[in-house]
Amino acid sequence: MLVSAKEMLDKAKAGHYAVGQFNINNLEWTKSILLTAQEMNSPVILGVSEGAGKYMTGFKTVAAMVKAMIEELNITVPVALHLDHGTYEGCYKCIEAGFSSIMFDGSHYPIEENVAKTKELVAVCKEKGMSLEAEVGSIGGEEDGVVGMGECADPNECKMIADLGVDMLAAGIGNIHGVYPANWQGLSFETLAAVQELTGTMPLVLHGGTGIPDDMIKKAIDLGVSKINVNTECQLAFAAATRKYIEEGKDQQGKGFDPRKLLAPGAEAIKATVREKIELFGSANKA
Ligand SMILES: [Zn+2]
Repeated sequence: MLVSAKEMLDKAKAGHYAVGQFNINNLEWTKSILLTAQEMNSPVILGVSEGAGKYMTGFKTVAAMVKAMIEELNITVPVALHLDHGTYEGCYKCIEAGFSSIMFDGSHYPIEENVAKTKELVAVCKEKGMSLEAEVGSIGGEEDGVVGMGECADPNECKMIADLGVDMLAAGIGNIHGVYPANWQGLSFETLAAVQELTGTMPLVLHGGTGIPDDMIKKAIDLGVSKINVNTECQLAFAAATRKYIEEGKDQQGKGFDPRKLLAPGAEAIKATVREKIELFGSANKA
């Protein structure tokens, strides 16, 4: 069933594990992630960026597909459908489309405006029974070839946003979207500890989960991270498996060109990645 992410994340925070947010791009992605979460009896969050929503023809299509798939595949573990890095307008579109959770990324606004808009969305989400993620301190990443190192959030600003009543908080701690550069300096556990101290029981979110070493992930969970976003890693796994299938000429053997066969190795690769992450995050059998 489609649920808000609040309960699963509060339980994760109290139980010292993290729930994975896996971003979806199409039917194969969604199916692979849902089946793996069910197999492992794990709660799961399906992330949808605004770009991916547009690619799938709109948020209404996404919500309808996910709801129907949960029913048709008999998925019984808690599933949240979550807007990833939403704009103010995008948040309202997802609320209307039937998402169960949204992230409002107001990190690029001055803090006063981030506070005002987040406050407004807190009230709307409470009324609808949806969960809301806010962001403080922007997450780095590659933009037009320039790689940002990932800003560290101001713990006092984190407290200010947390106190508005959001359900989860993404605080920049040197994490980056995409593939980490060779000279990356690692996560700032000092910042994470300071944010955790001021925000208490608030579930913290780690974006850019691809390529962070396992021991850093475990330490981040110990320090209060309860949700970890994984996107790039599933894309890399899907691409590698698809490339291998084609390079081995399997698409030219028999009916190997059938999309159901052509996309199968990639879908299996996504499942393997999700399985690995659920094990690392500790959310197996926590549904
Ligand atoms: Zn992110």
